[in-house]
Amino acid sequence: MKDFFDDLDNELKGVNTSNNSFNQDDIQIIEDDTVEGEAIDVNESFTESCMESAEAETVASTEEKKSSFKKEFSRNTKDFKEWSNNSDSEFTSLKQSLMTNFPETKFYLPTLREGYTRMIPIWGHNEVGKNMSMYQYWDDIVLIDGGMQFPEADMLGAKYSIPDISFLIPYKDKIKGFIITHGHLDHIGALKHLLPALGMPPVYGTKLTIGFIKKNLEENNLLNSATLIEVDQDKEEFVRMWNWNVEFFRENHSIPDATGIYLESPTAKIVHTWDFKFDFTPAVDKPADLARIGRIGSRWISVLMSDSTNSTKKWFTKSEKEIGISLDHLIEKGVEGRMIIATFSSLVWRIQQIVEACERHNKTVFLSGRSMVENVRIARDLGFVKSSQSTIKKMTGKATEGIPLNKQVIITTGSQGEEFSALYRIAEGTHPSIEVMPGDTIVLSSTPIPGNERSVVEVMNKLIKLGAKLVTNDNLDIHASGHAAQEEQKIMLNLIRPKNFIPIHGELFMRVAHKNTAMELWHKDENIFLSDNGNILDIQPDGKIFRSKIQVPLQEIIVDGNGIGTAGSHVIKAREKMMNSWVLVIGFKIDSKTKAIVGPLKIETRGLVYIDEVRQIHKMIIKKAKTVYENTVMDVPEIEEKDLVKIIKADLESYLLQKIDREPMIIPIITEV
Ligand SMILES: [Zn+2]
Repeated sequence: MKDFFDDLDNELKGVNTSNNSFNQDDIQIIEDDTVEGEAIDVNESFTESCMESAEAETVASTEEKKSSFKKEFSRNTKDFKEWSNNSDSEFTSLKQSLMTNFPETKFYLPTLREGYTRMIPIWGHNEVGKNMSMYQYWDDIVLIDGGMQFPEADMLGAKYSIPDISFLIPYKDKIKGFIITHGHLDHIGALKHLLPALGMPPVYGTKLTIGFIKKNLEENNLLNSATLIEVDQDKEEFVRMWNWNVEFFRENHSIPDATGIYLESPTAKIVHTWDFKFDFTPAVDKPADLARIGRIGSRWISVLMSDSTNSTKKWFTKSEKEIGISLDHLIEKGVEGRMIIATFSSLVWRIQQIVEACERHNKTVFLSGRSMVENVRIARDLGFVKSSQSTIKKMTGKATEGIPLNKQVIITTGSQGEEFSALYRIAEGTHPSIEVMPGDTIVLSSTPIPGNERSVVEVMNKLIKLGAKLVTNDNLDIHASGHAAQEEQKIMLNLIRPKNFIPIHGELFMRVAHKNTAMELWHKDENIFLSDNGNILDIQPDGKIFRSKIQVPLQEIIVDGNGIGTAGSHVIKAREKMMNSWVLVIGFKIDSKTKAIVGPLKIETRGLVYIDEVRQIHKMIIKKAKTVYENTVMDVPEIEEKDLVKIIKADLESYLLQKIDREPMIIPIITEV
């Protein structure tokens, strides 16, 4: 079986033979640098990319991308030099092939019986965020949404994760299209990987959704090969996709142009809400079209799949208009210094309400954060943000010149405390044009997404230390959720009146709460399904749902740099080991003929906590390593290098476990001279 360190070892060997980093003249002990808290920097091959946050404003420059590519693929310096000389177009095509390199699978879907309609939840049906579903009738597959998920604690440095569509690749000729419900990244962010892997099927979505997808594909050189079809959710008409009729209907959410989906095969009628709420006064948006949802409900719907995020919350979710009123009062009242409002860059209606309030009260809006500037530009081009030319400016030191501090309102990304976001940099004092001063007020127009609480608190503490005043949703109504609470869920259930109900988009406790709400109405236990990702659910011609015992094997697919990998892979195991223990690199220089060690061994360690004893431990390791090497070569003179490396690793591991009760990641490097 292939050892999971083999690849890393080969890579290190390649780099080492060419850069000759080991001193051959004497035993050189390099002190562990943990005390100073420096990052691991034994060799460039170890340099890992940082996590990129949801609102991170930095875009890796071409040089940074090249450096990340180098890390992944430089087997040796020569290859890298050749690669560096390649043109940008070659780089682009390599990048694209990395982006779509899903693992191979031998799984085949069970045959779909005649007259049956199939549903497969691929991602996010049993959790919040992450979204993708598949529907099939006859030979026609349609897919809904293709989202990405920003890193969770167990993803160890990965940039984000995406749905596993490996099983779909053999069926790509049957895919008739992607239907997208709205422009949040957890619904569109994986398209740059999924579309090319699935043969670029057409993508259907509303105006703003298509606008955001366009930007995303353009950044990845995929726009020319994509087919993007804009639909109007206010038109009561079907989009025909072979055996499927698809209708879009207006819902509300925390981004404009969100739509629910009605899907009709010759034998089944499905309503899929995905993220929704009902907002009867949605500020600048139109309210959800309840009359049309009611008409759709009169068609005898086989299955309703509906958003469970807020199913434990009573009553209604707050209206966006209420938030606008609070923000207007805040902006009118004014503050001594500048007002800095942090929110999500996709909350276009919120941004529009802030802009309108600033126009009413004679203030200028400055946008900070790359995604904020980009999203507002797209939303403005498409008519979703309206303002006079002079009200909105991009934040730069020069742009604010001559404008009194209390007339400046800055809208920024970073409301989740994400590293590298604009608010994070403001708090750290590293933002190029915003320095917080006493008298400034920071408004967090958001609530922390579960898991982000600690980062938000840290940013808040830093801002207060700088002398800023803080306004959060706890002291004023300045944020509303985009998801339906119980009364809105009841309205949806009542309007659709489905034969079967599947609560989706929520942890188990949320979906069970949604189920209980449905049972308070007239739904029976046997008609409510709690589905898991990978389930194969076939709607029979009589409308009943058959759940197959066969499960689609789905893996956690992570993206690191530009490349795809599986979270269960050796990379994550290696990262876990590095995180939980320490790293030891030991270099042997040997005579190519006699195999005898030439000169001293060289050792480097990172993450070793024994500060005072480090020299002693290094000496001990070198002695042991030398003995293991010499004994092994003496016993088996023809031993292959990879086996020798394995023995050194195994022996040193058990030795260190016995001596200091720790198992570091051990990387032996053998160089022949
Ligand atoms: Zn959403």
